[in-house]
Amino acid sequence: MLIVKKFGGSSVADKERIFNVAKRCIEDYSKGHDIVVVLSAMGKSTDELIAKAKDMNPNAPKREMDMLLTTGEQVSVALMAMAMDVLGVPAVSLNAFQVAMHTTSAYMNSRLKRIDSERIRNELEARKIVIITGFQGINKFDDYTTLGRGGSDTTAVALAAALNADACEIYTDVEGVYTADPRVVPNARKMKEITYDEMLELATLGAKVLHNRSVELAKKYGVQLVVRSSLNTAEGTIVKEDVKVEKMLVSGVAADKNTARISLIGLKDEPGIAFKIFNLLAKKNINVDIILQSIGRDNTKDISFTVAQDAVDEAIMVLEDNKNSITAQKIDVNKKVAKVSVVGAGMMSNAGVAAKMFEALFDCGVNIHMISTSEIRVTVLINEEFVDKATRAVHDAFMLEE
Ligand code: ADP
Ligand code: ASP
Ligand code: MG
Repeated sequence: MLIVKKFGGSSVADKERIFNVAKRCIEDYSKGHDIVVVLSAMGKSTDELIAKAKDMNPNAPKREMDMLLTTGEQVSVALMAMAMDVLGVPAVSLNAFQVAMHTTSAYMNSRLKRIDSERIRNELEARKIVIITGFQGINKFDDYTTLGRGGSDTTAVALAAALNADACEIYTDVEGVYTADPRVVPNARKMKEITYDEMLELATLGAKVLHNRSVELAKKYGVQLVVRSSLNTAEGTIVKEDVKVEKMLVSGVAADKNTARISLIGLKDEPGIAFKIFNLLAKKNINVDIILQSIGRDNTKDISFTVAQDAVDEAIMVLEDNKNSITAQKIDVNKKVAKVSVVGAGMMSNAGVAAKMFEALFDCGVNIHMISTSEIRVTVLINEEFVDKATRAVHDAFMLEE
């Protein structure tokens, strides 16, 4: 079997944990399997590198950010290979250049396009454990790129697809995918299985246990994932196309603090305004999430929308620069907001999910600023200070009675 195993930052945070991971990999290697290991940077080192960059230059060029951030993963793969050497097992560490992991050209948020597998296959052929840097790639300018925060999961899934692996295991600091973040909701339940679609919604809406693009890729290439703990051998959660267990109304609750609301006030109520606004943002690669437009009155209207917190400054800059052409009288921004969402394939055919969620929020005194729904989710925007309380209340409303 060829097994891809990915370990997150906390799983390789220190010497002891690195040896723990090395031993787990060697266990499967000793059974005769081919092992590809994908690692994140140690502990919080990516955060520390970002803080260093901010201190040096608050508007650091994105290319240089990637040059810096990719060092984190390079440290952990080299140390892991050294640990395996101590344990007497042949191993080799490779970075994005050495493998050749090609991405789109954008820095800090690029997408994997193609992975050359020849070098990896040769190393596996020589019976080495191959340890690969997660999160990073190279672009057509021969520069380093990164895949966005949490992107090592995506590296692992892309490798599993490219190598046609028999298994893709994501090891982390919790025992699997839960009905809500177990650090916020103590009575959250571990799921045995979850569908790609539900996991994709949860990941996109803030459940950072998996990078959302990793789920997208897993679905596209049919890579079955298992999410489990690097610290014990408890059974994890399987992410796949169809699950056998009876569909629950709601599979999980997700929260996302990395969000900000922008309001454009007093826009002309005429065709083309929304197009102008969102085209300006699209050109800057800024993703827009919930959009709300007020009913036109006295020939003016307001448009509010949310963007990721790390994109809000850039968004405001481009909107202010074009304030006249988009006809905005005023531009407001609120960074102290968060999203809470319920997700579940079961809600498609069930009325009342939104009402139940709003009731839970009402019961704990939380006001809703914006609402957005799809077939399998309901999302609300609320004040950030209430996000944990709201997540627990919504989780309990749906999960305790099922
Ligand atoms: P890693 O460094 O291993 O990639 P992350 O910190 O990126 O780990 O993701 C794991 C974290 O995701 C957990 O510690 C947990 O707090 C958080 N999390 C959020 N939502 C969920 C959920 N529904 N199920 C499990 N963990 C979740
Ligand atoms: N080290 C990167 C981050 O902290 C990638 C990852 O952990 O997946 O975002
Ligand atoms: Mg992660």
